[in-house]
Amino acid sequence: MAKEDYYDLLGISKDASAEDIKKAYRKKAVQYHPDKNQGKKDAEEMFKKISEAYEILKDSDKRATYDRYGHAAFQRGGMGRQGGAGGFHDPFDIFREVFGGAGSGNIFEEFFGGGESSRGGSRRGSDLRYDLEITLGEAANGAEKQISFRRAATCENCRGSGATPGSKAVTCTSCGGHGQVMSQRGFFSVRQTCPTCSGQGVRVENPCKHCSGEGRISKNSQIKLRIPKGVDTGSKLRSAGNGEAGIMGGTSGDLYVVIHVKEHEIFERHGDDLFCEIPIKFTLAAIGGAIDVPSLGGKVSLKIPSGTQSGTTFRLRGHGMPNLRGNRKGDQLIRVQIEVPTKLNSDQRAKLEEFAIACGDADNPVGASFFEKAKRFFD
Ligand SMILES: [Zn+2]
Ligand SMILES: [Zn+2]
Repeated sequence: MAKEDYYDLLGISKDASAEDIKKAYRKKAVQYHPDKNQGKKDAEEMFKKISEAYEILKDSDKRATYDRYGHAAFQRGGMGRQGGAGGFHDPFDIFREVFGGAGSGNIFEEFFGGGESSRGGSRRGSDLRYDLEITLGEAANGAEKQISFRRAATCENCRGSGATPGSKAVTCTSCGGHGQVMSQRGFFSVRQTCPTCSGQGVRVENPCKHCSGEGRISKNSQIKLRIPKGVDTGSKLRSAGNGEAGIMGGTSGDLYVVIHVKEHEIFERHGDDLFCEIPIKFTLAAIGGAIDVPSLGGKVSLKIPSGTQSGTTFRLRGHGMPNLRGNRKGDQLIRVQIEVPTKLNSDQRAKLEEFAIACGDADNPVGASFFEKAKRFFD
Protein backbone atom coordinates (compact mmCIF):
# COMPACT_ATOMS: atom_id res chain seq x y z
CA MET A 1 0.00 0.00 0.00
CA ALA A 2 1.43 3.37 -0.96
CA LYS A 3 2.08 5.68 1.94
CA GLU A 4 0.30 8.99 1.97
CA ASP A 5 2.32 12.10 1.32
CA TYR A 6 3.34 13.84 4.54
CA TYR A 7 2.35 17.25 3.23
CA ASP A 8 -1.06 15.96 2.15
CA LEU A 9 -1.58 14.36 5.56
CA LEU A 10 -1.10 17.69 7.27
CA GLY A 11 -2.96 19.52 4.53
CA ILE A 12 -0.15 21.91 3.72
CA SER A 13 1.83 22.86 0.66
CA LYS A 14 5.40 21.76 -0.03
CA ASP A 15 6.74 25.22 0.76
CA ALA A 16 4.98 25.53 4.11
CA SER A 17 7.01 27.34 6.79
CA ALA A 18 8.02 25.66 10.05
CA GLU A 19 5.32 27.67 11.79
CA ASP A 20 2.67 26.52 9.26
CA ILE A 21 3.70 22.92 9.80
CA LYS A 22 3.38 23.23 13.54
CA LYS A 23 0.00 24.96 13.27
CA ALA A 24 -1.33 22.36 10.87
CA TYR A 25 -0.15 19.54 13.10
CA ARG A 26 -1.65 21.13 16.18
CA LYS A 27 -5.03 21.46 14.49
CA LYS A 28 -5.05 17.87 13.26
CA ALA A 29 -3.70 16.50 16.52
CA VAL A 30 -6.56 18.06 18.44
CA GLN A 31 -9.02 16.68 15.94
CA TYR A 32 -7.70 13.10 16.02
CA HIS A 33 -6.38 12.82 19.55
CA PRO A 34 -7.50 9.46 21.01
CA ASP A 35 -8.81 11.16 24.15
CA LYS A 36 -11.41 12.86 22.03
CA ASN A 37 -12.15 9.81 19.89
CA GLN A 38 -12.60 7.05 22.40
CA GLY A 39 -12.39 3.66 20.76
CA LYS A 40 -12.30 4.95 17.21
CA LYS A 41 -9.58 3.01 15.43
CA ASP A 42 -9.54 5.31 12.39
CA ALA A 43 -8.84 8.36 14.50
CA GLU A 44 -6.02 6.60 16.30
CA GLU A 45 -4.47 5.53 12.98
CA MET A 46 -4.77 9.05 11.67
CA PHE A 47 -3.22 10.45 14.84
CA LYS A 48 -0.23 8.17 14.35
CA LYS A 49 0.08 9.13 10.70
CA ILE A 50 0.00 12.87 11.27
CA SER A 51 2.46 12.50 14.13
CA GLU A 52 4.81 10.59 11.89
CA ALA A 53 4.46 13.25 9.20
CA TYR A 54 5.14 15.98 11.72
CA GLU A 55 8.13 14.13 13.15
CA ILE A 56 9.79 14.30 9.73
CA LEU A 57 8.66 17.71 8.53
CA LYS A 58 9.47 19.61 11.72
CA ASP A 59 13.12 18.62 11.39
CA SER A 60 14.68 20.60 8.55
CA ASP A 61 17.27 17.87 7.83
CA LYS A 62 14.71 15.09 7.74
CA ARG A 63 12.37 17.27 5.73
CA ALA A 64 15.06 17.92 3.12
CA THR A 65 15.73 14.20 2.93
CA TYR A 66 12.04 13.46 2.54
CA ASP A 67 11.73 16.08 -0.21
CA ARG A 68 14.58 14.45 -2.09
CA TYR A 69 14.05 10.77 -1.51
CA GLY A 70 10.45 10.42 -0.39
CA HIS A 71 9.27 7.72 2.00
CA ALA A 72 12.05 5.40 0.84
CA ALA A 73 14.40 7.44 3.00
CA PHE A 74 12.72 6.43 6.23
CA GLN A 75 11.64 2.88 5.59
CA ARG A 76 13.55 -0.02 6.98
CA GLY A 77 13.04 -3.54 5.80
CA GLY A 78 9.80 -4.93 7.17
CA MET A 79 8.69 -4.10 10.65
CA GLY A 80 10.35 -2.51 13.61
CA ARG A 81 10.18 1.10 12.61
CA GLN A 82 9.60 2.08 16.22
CA GLY A 83 12.64 3.08 18.21
CA GLY A 84 16.25 2.74 17.17
CA ALA A 85 18.21 5.26 15.20
CA GLY A 86 16.13 6.89 12.51
CA GLY A 87 12.95 5.41 13.92
CA PHE A 88 9.98 7.37 15.07
CA HIS A 89 9.20 8.53 18.54
CA ASP A 90 6.13 7.66 20.42
CA PRO A 91 3.57 9.98 18.80
CA PHE A 92 2.56 11.23 22.23
CA ASP A 93 6.03 12.59 22.80
CA ILE A 94 5.64 14.93 19.89
CA PHE A 95 2.21 15.83 21.08
CA ARG A 96 3.57 16.89 24.46
CA GLU A 97 6.39 18.76 22.78
CA VAL A 98 4.01 20.86 20.71
CA PHE A 99 1.59 21.47 23.51
CA GLY A 100 4.12 22.13 26.20
CA GLY A 101 4.19 19.99 29.30
CA ALA A 102 6.88 17.49 30.11
CA GLY A 103 9.80 18.47 27.91
CA SER A 104 12.77 16.29 27.32
CA GLY A 105 15.45 17.13 29.87
CA ASN A 106 18.91 17.95 28.71
CA ILE A 107 20.96 14.85 29.26
CA PHE A 108 24.08 16.92 29.70
CA GLU A 109 22.73 18.47 32.86
CA GLU A 110 22.65 15.07 34.41
CA PHE A 111 26.12 14.26 33.26
CA PHE A 112 28.06 17.42 33.66
CA GLY A 113 26.31 19.35 36.35
CA GLY A 114 26.81 18.81 40.06
CA GLY A 115 28.76 15.72 41.00
CA GLU A 116 30.33 17.49 43.95
CA SER A 117 28.18 16.23 46.75
CA SER A 118 30.18 16.30 49.94
CA ARG A 119 30.51 13.41 52.28
CA GLY A 120 32.34 14.44 55.40
CA GLY A 121 35.35 16.39 54.18
CA SER A 122 35.77 14.38 51.01
CA ARG A 123 34.25 15.31 47.70
CA ARG A 124 33.82 13.40 44.48
CA GLY A 125 35.77 14.88 41.57
CA SER A 126 33.88 16.58 38.75
CA ASP A 127 32.95 14.80 35.56
CA LEU A 128 34.73 15.99 32.45
CA ARG A 129 33.61 16.28 28.86
CA TYR A 130 35.83 15.70 25.85
CA ASP A 131 34.65 16.35 22.30
CA LEU A 132 36.17 13.93 19.82
CA GLU A 133 35.92 14.22 16.06
CA ILE A 134 36.12 11.01 14.01
CA THR A 135 35.59 10.09 10.37
CA LEU A 136 32.59 8.23 9.00
CA GLY A 137 34.85 5.25 8.30
CA GLU A 138 35.94 5.16 11.94
CA ALA A 139 32.31 5.36 13.00
CA ALA A 140 31.54 2.40 10.72
CA ASN A 141 34.47 0.17 11.64
CA GLY A 142 35.17 1.23 15.20
CA ALA A 143 38.53 2.66 16.18
CA GLU A 144 41.10 3.01 18.89
CA LYS A 145 42.00 6.56 19.79
CA GLN A 146 44.47 8.08 22.15
CA ILE A 147 43.26 11.33 23.64
CA SER A 148 45.05 13.74 25.92
CA PHE A 149 43.45 16.33 28.13
CA ARG A 150 44.11 18.27 31.31
CA ARG A 151 42.55 17.13 34.52
CA ALA A 152 42.98 17.67 38.20
CA ALA A 153 44.89 14.57 39.27
CA THR A 154 45.76 13.39 42.75
CA CYS A 155 49.00 15.07 43.90
CA GLU A 156 51.62 12.34 44.10
CA ASN A 157 53.76 14.19 46.62
CA CYS A 158 51.12 14.24 49.35
CA ARG A 159 48.94 11.44 47.93
CA GLY A 160 46.00 13.81 47.87
CA SER A 161 46.11 14.78 51.54
CA GLY A 162 47.32 18.32 50.87
CA ALA A 163 49.85 18.06 53.71
CA THR A 164 53.62 17.86 53.40
CA PRO A 165 54.56 14.25 54.03
CA GLY A 166 55.24 13.84 57.72
CA SER A 167 53.12 16.80 58.75
CA LYS A 168 49.71 16.10 60.09
CA ALA A 169 46.35 17.56 59.48
CA VAL A 170 45.12 19.29 62.61
CA THR A 171 41.60 19.90 63.73
CA CYS A 172 40.36 23.30 62.62
CA THR A 173 40.24 25.61 65.61
CA SER A 174 37.57 27.88 64.14
CA CYS A 175 34.91 25.19 64.01
CA GLY A 176 36.35 22.56 66.32
CA GLY A 177 36.35 20.05 63.49
CA HIS A 178 32.63 20.32 62.72
CA GLY A 179 33.15 22.08 59.43
CA GLN A 180 30.37 24.49 60.25
CA VAL A 181 30.15 27.58 62.37
CA MET A 182 27.18 29.45 63.83
CA SER A 183 26.80 33.13 63.22
CA GLN A 184 24.28 35.66 64.40
CA ARG A 185 22.01 37.37 61.86
CA GLY A 186 19.60 39.60 63.67
CA PHE A 187 17.47 37.32 65.80
CA PHE A 188 18.61 34.17 64.10
CA SER A 189 21.54 31.89 64.51
CA VAL A 190 22.67 30.77 61.10
CA ARG A 191 24.76 27.70 60.50
CA GLN A 192 27.31 28.15 57.73
CA THR A 193 30.31 26.42 56.22
CA CYS A 194 33.47 27.19 58.18
CA PRO A 195 35.43 29.75 56.14
CA THR A 196 38.78 28.72 57.66
CA CYS A 197 38.75 25.06 56.59
CA SER A 198 36.11 25.30 53.84
CA GLY A 199 33.97 22.84 55.76
CA GLN A 200 36.56 20.11 55.94
CA GLY A 201 36.97 20.26 59.71
CA VAL A 202 40.73 19.91 59.47
CA ARG A 203 43.55 22.19 58.50
CA VAL A 204 46.92 21.25 57.18
CA GLU A 205 49.80 22.33 59.36
CA ASN A 206 52.36 22.34 56.53
CA PRO A 207 50.57 22.48 53.21
CA CYS A 208 52.14 20.43 50.42
CA LYS A 209 54.23 22.71 48.22
CA HIS A 210 53.44 20.82 45.02
CA CYS A 211 49.72 21.35 45.18
CA SER A 212 49.53 24.30 47.62
CA GLY A 213 47.60 22.08 50.00
CA GLU A 214 44.83 21.29 47.53
CA GLY A 215 45.78 17.63 47.21
CA ARG A 216 45.32 17.83 43.45
CA ILE A 217 47.44 19.05 40.57
CA SER A 218 46.42 19.98 37.05
CA LYS A 219 48.07 17.40 34.81
CA ASN A 220 48.06 16.21 31.23
CA SER A 221 46.40 12.83 31.05
CA GLN A 222 46.40 10.42 28.17
CA ILE A 223 44.00 7.59 27.77
CA LYS A 224 43.21 5.06 25.09
CA LEU A 225 39.63 4.84 23.94
CA ARG A 226 37.90 2.10 22.05
CA ILE A 227 35.25 3.60 19.80
CA PRO A 228 32.52 1.02 19.14
CA LYS A 229 31.08 0.48 15.65
CA GLY A 230 28.01 2.49 14.82
CA VAL A 231 28.54 5.61 16.93
CA ASP A 232 27.05 8.82 15.62
CA THR A 233 27.37 12.50 16.36
CA GLY A 234 26.13 12.97 19.91
CA SER A 235 27.01 9.45 21.10
CA LYS A 236 28.55 9.58 24.56
CA LEU A 237 31.16 7.20 25.85
CA ARG A 238 31.85 7.04 29.56
CA SER A 239 35.32 6.41 30.89
CA ALA A 240 34.82 5.72 34.58
CA GLY A 241 37.23 7.37 36.98
CA ASN A 242 38.98 9.45 34.32
CA GLY A 243 37.38 12.73 35.34
CA GLU A 244 38.86 15.00 37.98
CA ALA A 245 40.38 13.42 41.07
CA GLY A 246 38.29 13.60 44.22
CA ILE A 247 39.15 15.84 47.14
CA MET A 248 40.26 14.45 50.51
CA GLY A 249 39.93 10.85 49.44
CA GLY A 250 36.75 11.36 47.46
CA THR A 251 36.25 9.22 44.35
CA SER A 252 37.24 10.49 40.93
CA GLY A 253 34.66 11.80 38.51
CA ASP A 254 34.08 10.24 35.11
CA LEU A 255 35.14 11.34 31.67
CA TYR A 256 32.44 11.60 29.02
CA VAL A 257 33.62 11.55 25.44
CA VAL A 258 31.12 13.09 23.05
CA ILE A 259 31.48 11.91 19.47
CA HIS A 260 31.30 14.15 16.42
CA VAL A 261 31.34 12.42 13.05
CA LYS A 262 32.88 14.52 10.27
CA GLU A 263 30.90 15.11 7.13
CA HIS A 264 31.77 12.71 4.34
CA GLU A 265 32.45 13.79 0.77
CA ILE A 266 30.09 11.25 -0.77
CA PHE A 267 27.83 9.83 1.92
CA GLU A 268 25.18 11.57 3.92
CA ARG A 269 24.16 9.66 7.01
CA HIS A 270 20.63 9.33 8.36
CA GLY A 271 20.58 7.04 11.35
CA ASP A 272 21.99 3.78 10.06
CA ASP A 273 21.34 4.54 6.41
CA LEU A 274 23.73 6.20 4.02
CA PHE A 275 22.64 8.31 1.06
CA CYS A 276 24.52 9.30 -2.02
CA GLU A 277 23.90 10.67 -5.47
CA ILE A 278 25.58 9.18 -8.49
CA PRO A 279 25.57 10.46 -12.06
CA ILE A 280 24.95 7.92 -14.84
CA LYS A 281 25.04 8.28 -18.61
CA PHE A 282 21.70 8.68 -20.37
CA THR A 283 22.54 5.78 -22.63
CA LEU A 284 23.06 3.48 -19.64
CA ALA A 285 19.75 4.64 -18.16
CA ALA A 286 17.99 3.82 -21.43
CA ILE A 287 19.69 0.52 -22.24
CA GLY A 288 20.38 -0.72 -18.73
CA GLY A 289 23.52 -2.32 -17.35
CA ALA A 290 25.64 -2.31 -14.25
CA ILE A 291 27.95 0.23 -12.68
CA ASP A 292 30.41 0.15 -9.82
CA VAL A 293 29.33 2.40 -6.99
CA PRO A 294 31.35 3.38 -3.93
CA SER A 295 30.24 1.94 -0.61
CA LEU A 296 31.88 2.04 2.80
CA GLY A 297 33.32 -1.43 2.26
CA GLY A 298 34.65 -0.70 -1.24
CA LYS A 299 33.13 -0.97 -4.69
CA VAL A 300 29.73 -2.60 -5.15
CA SER A 301 28.07 -3.43 -8.44
CA LEU A 302 24.68 -1.80 -8.94
CA LYS A 303 22.27 -3.02 -11.59
CA ILE A 304 20.62 -0.24 -13.56
CA PRO A 305 17.44 -1.53 -15.22
CA SER A 306 16.71 -0.29 -18.71
CA GLY A 307 14.39 2.70 -18.71
CA THR A 308 15.66 4.12 -15.41
CA GLN A 309 14.47 7.67 -14.84
CA SER A 310 16.50 10.46 -13.32
CA GLY A 311 15.99 10.68 -9.56
CA THR A 312 15.30 6.96 -9.09
CA THR A 313 16.59 5.75 -5.72
CA PHE A 314 18.11 2.29 -5.39
CA ARG A 315 18.61 0.52 -2.09
CA LEU A 316 21.61 -1.64 -1.32
CA ARG A 317 20.54 -3.63 1.70
CA GLY A 318 23.06 -3.98 4.48
CA HIS A 319 25.57 -1.54 2.99
CA GLY A 320 24.86 1.23 5.50
CA MET A 321 26.22 1.81 8.99
CA PRO A 322 26.34 -0.89 11.65
CA ASN A 323 23.82 -0.39 14.40
CA LEU A 324 25.31 0.55 17.74
CA ARG A 325 23.00 -1.78 19.61
CA GLY A 326 23.05 -4.93 17.57
CA ASN A 327 24.46 -6.59 14.54
CA ARG A 328 21.88 -5.11 12.22
CA LYS A 329 23.21 -2.90 9.45
CA GLY A 330 21.53 0.00 7.70
CA ASP A 331 21.14 0.33 3.94
CA GLN A 332 22.81 2.44 1.32
CA LEU A 333 20.47 4.49 -0.82
CA ILE A 334 21.66 5.64 -4.20
CA ARG A 335 19.86 8.29 -6.17
CA VAL A 336 20.84 8.41 -9.80
CA GLN A 337 21.17 11.61 -11.78
CA ILE A 338 21.02 11.16 -15.51
CA GLU A 339 23.71 13.04 -17.35
CA VAL A 340 22.98 14.35 -20.79
CA PRO A 341 26.05 15.09 -22.94
CA THR A 342 26.70 18.78 -23.37
CA LYS A 343 28.98 18.47 -26.39
CA LEU A 344 28.25 16.23 -29.33
CA ASN A 345 30.53 15.69 -32.27
CA SER A 346 28.97 15.45 -35.70
CA ASP A 347 29.01 11.67 -35.72
CA GLN A 348 27.26 11.44 -32.34
CA ARG A 349 24.74 14.07 -33.36
CA ALA A 350 23.93 12.20 -36.55
CA LYS A 351 23.40 8.97 -34.59
CA LEU A 352 21.08 10.67 -32.11
CA GLU A 353 19.10 12.31 -34.90
CA GLU A 354 18.76 8.92 -36.51
CA PHE A 355 17.58 7.58 -33.14
CA ALA A 356 15.02 10.37 -32.78
CA ILE A 357 13.64 9.56 -36.21
CA ALA A 358 13.47 5.87 -35.31
CA CYS A 359 11.42 6.79 -32.21
CA GLY A 360 8.91 8.93 -34.03
CA ASP A 361 6.80 10.85 -31.54
CA ALA A 362 5.41 7.82 -29.77
CA ASP A 363 8.15 7.01 -27.31
CA ASN A 364 7.73 9.53 -24.56
CA PRO A 365 7.05 7.54 -21.40
CA VAL A 366 7.22 10.27 -18.78
CA GLY A 367 6.01 13.13 -20.87
CA ALA A 368 3.05 11.29 -22.40
CA SER A 369 0.60 11.86 -19.56
CA PHE A 370 1.77 15.44 -19.20
CA PHE A 371 1.15 16.26 -22.83
CA GLU A 372 -2.18 14.50 -22.58
CA LYS A 373 -3.17 16.94 -19.83
CA ALA A 374 -1.61 19.90 -21.58
CA LYS A 375 -3.69 19.21 -24.67
CA ARG A 376 -6.78 20.31 -22.82
CA PHE A 377 -5.33 23.81 -22.60
CA PHE A 378 -4.54 23.95 -26.27
CA ASP A 379 -7.93 22.69 -27.42
ZN1 LIG B 1 50.34 17.79 47.32
ZN1 LIG C 1 36.85 24.91 60.29
